[in-house]
Amino acid sequence: MKTKPCDCCGQAVTVAYRFQIAPSKTWRFACPACLPAEQARPGYRYGGTWKGARH
Ligand SMILES: [Zn+2]
Repeated sequence: MKTKPCDCCGQAVTVAYRFQIAPSKTWRFACPACLPAEQARPGYRYGGTWKGARH
């Protein structure tokens, strides 16, 4: 199973949420614990869910 470091807290997670904060075009990843704080920011844009687990 792959992991990805959360761009907010640095923790390696197996499920991460991709998002942008406008006007930035850079995609960042947030773990489930950090997502609510990012969603509350102005310019938040959801870009999909990354999963490290293979089906
Ligand atoms: Zn995090």
